[in-house]
Amino acid sequence: MSYPIIILHKGKETSLQRFHPWVFSGAIKLKPDNLIDGEIVSIYSHNNIFLATGFYSNGSIAIRIISFIETEINLNFWIQKINNAYIYRQQLGILNNTTNVCRLFFGEGDGVPGLIIDYYNGHCVLQAHTLGVYLQKQTIVEALKHVLKNNLISVYDKSKETLPKNQSETINNSFLFGALDEELVVKENNYSFAIDFINGQKTGFFIDQRDNRKLLTKYCQSKKVLNTFAYTGGFSVYAAKNAIEVHSVDVSATAIKLANKNVEINKLTNHTSFVADTFDFIKDKKNEYDVIILDPPAFAKNLKSKHNAVIGYKKLNAMALKLIKPNGILFTFSCSGVVDKNLFYNTIISASIEAKRNVKLLHYLYQPPDHPVIPYFPEGEYLKGMVLWVE
Ligand code: SAH
Repeated sequence: MSYPIIILHKGKETSLQRFHPWVFSGAIKLKPDNLIDGEIVSIYSHNNIFLATGFYSNGSIAIRIISFIETEINLNFWIQKINNAYIYRQQLGILNNTTNVCRLFFGEGDGVPGLIIDYYNGHCVLQAHTLGVYLQKQTIVEALKHVLKNNLISVYDKSKETLPKNQSETINNSFLFGALDEELVVKENNYSFAIDFINGQKTGFFIDQRDNRKLLTKYCQSKKVLNTFAYTGGFSVYAAKNAIEVHSVDVSATAIKLANKNVEINKLTNHTSFVADTFDFIKDKKNEYDVIILDPPAFAKNLKSKHNAVIGYKKLNAMALKLIKPNGILFTFSCSGVVDKNLFYNTIISASIEAKRNVKLLHYLYQPPDHPVIPYFPEGEYLKGMVLWVE
């Protein structure tokens, strides 16, 4: 099978030779005139050496690489990709007796930019971020059936939110295979969570905080805990197992409803929710909480908003640090990819200085291994956190 050929300018082959999976439009010397968005293309260097196969997009990232060897993109290709991702997670014991939810496929980290698949105890939620991936969805479903066998109940396509706007207008989210007939409750580290992947934000649950939630339990024994930006109450449920009292805050009433439900499912009674803006909620409080969790949505979605994002993180963290009781603990996170770990670290330090609190750094936190970061693509690292002891 031969795909349309793209030839790069001299020198532009080096990033592909280092296995970086993106080609920017400026690197392209020659491409067919009739090339359309989403097409599979073969990429060659200026002196006709094959470099990679990828999906073409009309955008500044013009090609996203899915193979660095010459291969046909067919069912076998997808089976191999998904099987590799599945074996990796199985070998690491991510899915086990106490956890039946994980990110099964994480874009570049698993070798296909633009493909996200989350696994909820048999139900897969697929999000295509590019048309190239979207056009392959039926084959991806076949590959999932092949790899997961009896462990697959349904596949729900939720790409309407993730595809570029001009491509998503005419499509709808729908089941590509199977169905969800009953309320879905999954287990994470033996805690139960009701999942509404159809109506919930993103794929319905923030799977990337599993390890960090587990760490939190250690610091909640007999404490009063505030979980801000709580969404479905992931951190709240873990905290409430050990804490005296837990407060959850989220600006979304729908999210708080789900958080309350999760607290109930786990038979916890020491929890209260507040539908409120976090900044408003904490601004007049003082000396009330032993442990505070700050896990806001990405303040920066692109480089342009990085500066304002840093100001936002500093303000939020300084407010929380002022409010925390002596000898308290702060769990603070950023999921903005453009705010890297050094910048986040410096921002938190400067928030501590502003709050005039002595802090000790207990942990650096990252995304878990089912959101793998590959060394060829450091941009894949997006979640970072710090745990501080606050004197
Ligand atoms: N910590 C959560 C995920 C947080 S997602 C978890 O572990 O599952 C971010 C959440 O912040 C969303 O639920 C969103 O509704 C909420 N949010 C956004 N802006 C907010 C604000 N200013 N105040 C309170 N909540 C906010």
